[in-house]
Amino acid sequence: MIKKLKILFVSPEATPYAKTGGLADVAGTLPMALASLGHDVRIVLPLYQAVKRGEFIYQELIPRLSVPLPWDAGPATVFTLQAPEDIRVYLLQNDRYYDREYLYSTPQGDYPDNAQRFIFFCRAVPELLKAIDFQPHVIHCHDWQTALIPVYLKTIFRQDPFFRHILSFYTIHNLAYQGIFPAENFSLTGLPSELFSIQGLEYWGNINLMKGGILFSDIISTVSSKYSQEIRTPEYGYGLEGVLQDRSKDLYGIINGVDYDEWNPARDRFIVANYDRRRISGKKKCKDDLIAISGLKINKNSPILAMISRLADQKGFDLLTQAMDQIMVLDVGFVLLGTGEERYHTLFQAIGRRFPGKAIIKLEFNNALAHKIEAGADFFLMPSRYEPCGLNQIYSMKYGTIPIARATGGLDDTVEDFDPVTGRGTGFKFAQYAVEPLVTKIREAISIYQDKKLWRKLLANTMAQDFSWKNSAKRYQELYLEGLERFS
Ligand code: ADP
Repeated sequence: MIKKLKILFVSPEATPYAKTGGLADVAGTLPMALASLGHDVRIVLPLYQAVKRGEFIYQELIPRLSVPLPWDAGPATVFTLQAPEDIRVYLLQNDRYYDREYLYSTPQGDYPDNAQRFIFFCRAVPELLKAIDFQPHVIHCHDWQTALIPVYLKTIFRQDPFFRHILSFYTIHNLAYQGIFPAENFSLTGLPSELFSIQGLEYWGNINLMKGGILFSDIISTVSSKYSQEIRTPEYGYGLEGVLQDRSKDLYGIINGVDYDEWNPARDRFIVANYDRRRISGKKKCKDDLIAISGLKINKNSPILAMISRLADQKGFDLLTQAMDQIMVLDVGFVLLGTGEERYHTLFQAIGRRFPGKAIIKLEFNNALAHKIEAGADFFLMPSRYEPCGLNQIYSMKYGTIPIARATGGLDDTVEDFDPVTGRGTGFKFAQYAVEPLVTKIREAISIYQDKKLWRKLLANTMAQDFSWKNSAKRYQELYLEGLERFS
């Protein structure tokens, strides 16, 4: 019989409280899937301004939690709320660090004190656990912002019986963001100075927090099987491939699940007509609605290509900007919803002006519009340079919005290239990161769209896919249990 585990999720973001990307979706929904397997799951995250702006009701739990650090960071205040599935959420307040408009960076760049902000967060978590006397079996940390927790557990808390048997589990959602800071920040961690070495957190003269997470966690995972292989190579390893290779036997890939309560055209509360694969007619109404609200001026039978994304190099925007002229001569409409790097804002604004009514550019973060686009578009473009998992292609499949994706990371694991001869497949995939293969794939996709019979087959295959958390949550559970046997 599987025992009931006590699991603490430590994440810098989680839906519905604070979100910049897919990590929030995972940290908000995987706990629910684990709780429904019978576990006691709790979440800790910083009390950002974004959380305060939401309509959440939370109570003060600890007015003054002191966080021992070698500089004066002040105390934290801990608030708590009860989330669905009996999940307890702890919100760690220190307004000096978290009461800001954005989570990590403004459009002009990262907050200059991000090292302090997340060293404080990591150092506060063990103190919080002691203060509430909650001794989890597993602490599951996510991305660089939480990477110091496994380091603290294995160093300053090594002899502390309270923490001794806890399994530290570290998930990499994106290896490109490692939390690299100038060396002088090392002294802010309060860690023994010998850890600032090649075998420790030192990285080309800087401190690299993610490197610490990889070295000191019992188990490491990332969010797709393909990405867990790719990151061991120089092309995708962002300089940490050697460290990851050394930890190969403890490194796993588990594909993210998605929340079909939130992303399902049959129940979606943001779209004008609900539909599913058996009653698809609502999708046409959603397309008409998208055309109307976005200002697209296209033939009503022309396919709409859409993207919803952070505007970052990772997502293939350099390729797309180069391919745009060739895409725009096709009989298609294009809708982009995204925010991110300033230079892409400028580039895409110019594209919008060059192709009025044909390329619609919305430079904002807008969840309701994201849902309307998922439902109203015909194709979802993801020409990513790399993609740890990717959620939007998975959401798109359920909405019958066919992914056109580069075969990398989670995109490769979740999208199967459509074969018109066998009728198998769920989307369109190209391998080489270059303009020609992307444009050729888009053309191929459009020719299938124009063939009613093949298109129906493709929609039926795609909309039947099931990426709910059920399977992946069980896989995490298995790894927690194996890890507890091996390491604690
Ligand atoms: P990543 O985490 O790398 O940004 P994912 O595909 O894993 O990419 O997840 C992105 C998530 O963020 C999706 O839920 C997507 O809908 C959402 N998202 C990204 N940009 C926007 C935006 N401008 N407006 C609304 N939602 C967005």
